[in-house]
Amino acid sequence: MELYELTIHELHRKLKNREVSSVEATRSMLERIGAVEDRVRSFITVTPEEALKNAEAADRRIAKGKIDVLTGIPVALKDIFLTAGIRTTCASRILENFIPPYDSTAVAKLKEKGIVLVGKLNQDEFAMGSSTESSWFGTTRNPWHPDYIPGGSSGGSASCIAARQATATLGTDTGGSIRQPASHCGCVGLKPTYGRVSRYGVIAYASSLDQVGPVTRDVADCAIMLGAVAGHDPKDSTSVNLPVPDYSAALVHDVKGLKIGLPREYFIEGLDPSVKKAMDEAIATYQGLGAEFMEISLPHTDYAVATYYLIATAEASSNLARYDGVRFGHRNTDARGLLDMYMLSRDEGFGAEVKRRIMLGTYALSSGYYDAYYLKAQKVRTLIMRDFIKAFETVDVILTPVAPTPAFKIGEKFNDPLQMYLSDIFTIPVNLAGTCGISVPAGFSREGLPIGVQLIGKPFGEETILRAAYAFEQNTEWHKRKADM
Ligand code: GLN
Repeated sequence: MELYELTIHELHRKLKNREVSSVEATRSMLERIGAVEDRVRSFITVTPEEALKNAEAADRRIAKGKIDVLTGIPVALKDIFLTAGIRTTCASRILENFIPPYDSTAVAKLKEKGIVLVGKLNQDEFAMGSSTESSWFGTTRNPWHPDYIPGGSSGGSASCIAARQATATLGTDTGGSIRQPASHCGCVGLKPTYGRVSRYGVIAYASSLDQVGPVTRDVADCAIMLGAVAGHDPKDSTSVNLPVPDYSAALVHDVKGLKIGLPREYFIEGLDPSVKKAMDEAIATYQGLGAEFMEISLPHTDYAVATYYLIATAEASSNLARYDGVRFGHRNTDARGLLDMYMLSRDEGFGAEVKRRIMLGTYALSSGYYDAYYLKAQKVRTLIMRDFIKAFETVDVILTPVAPTPAFKIGEKFNDPLQMYLSDIFTIPVNLAGTCGISVPAGFSREGLPIGVQLIGKPFGEETILRAAYAFEQNTEWHKRKADM
């Protein structure tokens, strides 16, 4: 196997035994990026100089015997994470030339461990979307089939893993943006519990929903990345002060007696037969391993998408008010007067989907409509949260599809926002409830596109979903297939 294809744990072993250097692994990765990037377009910015500098530093560290499991590992980041001195765009024209003065906490933590940053990844503009088509920098392609979307909004994070252009990546998930692209590209993606990982220095979309999490080749790598970024951060008041478990130690191959819930409301009409088949096979696999299944009900599921699009857009309209052309970002220079400058800068800087959401959110928050929309949505959110609390009184984890269909074709839903929004129907409730979920490879469609299943855990139950995902992975072959590119 080539160095660029290895998992974190495989490459770590080689680095530790001094079979290879980080510079060699990094060169292999940069060559790979160069060889396939034209066809997949995972990156907004590739950082070869930074990477080689980091790799040399990692090799010096390894020579001193101070190796961490992430030391010298090539990592790429969604372009939503602020990186000191490296352009960070959030895939928007409004931040096209923005160079942040500091690192997000998640990035600082990875750097402390000695990762090698190979670049910044494509995504939907401001993480609004499910296909990576709304990026100002163009569409990313699914490495399994160039006519299909990779999912979104962390589409570049998933495509880059599937195309073997980084060993591991970070994404963010507000309504499914880690799990859905992971599912569509055949990767593992985990959205941690709200509060588990600091969002300091992560460009805000909807602050009561956003979470940082890994997209990786396998479950063991996912545990490593989560452990590296999780934990309390005094700079993010929503990060929770709970000890960070040893997630890698949780990966024991045992789900005997694990109680798995199947929510009745998730087996809807319109579920693609290949997704249904992946679910049926996953159930059979778990049964074979001694897990127990029971039907559960999450009765407010039907309202989740509508609730999400009120809360997320309301918060987005507030978060995105800061892009006014004054302090940073794109500024129109022909404007006559301040108001004109605001309007023209925002008009030029934001794409259509972002504008749609700012308008929807502003409307939902406006006096006269606030109670009918925003306040009502908050109340329904509480009901959705309670559905999960109740379900977790009887089950340990919940098994669901990640998305109703495999990846769709580029262009298929881009001009039909409602269809696009509905593709997150199974991931959004997890964000509204504030709990955790993981997507693991579980099959393929007839076109050869990957399909994932989702395991939802209790709040701060990441160890349990990782263990369940690991047992599944170790008993199936799906994660071993590679996109032919
Ligand atoms: N597709 C959803 C949206 O557009 C979720 C995006 C996300 O999780 N960032 O809002």
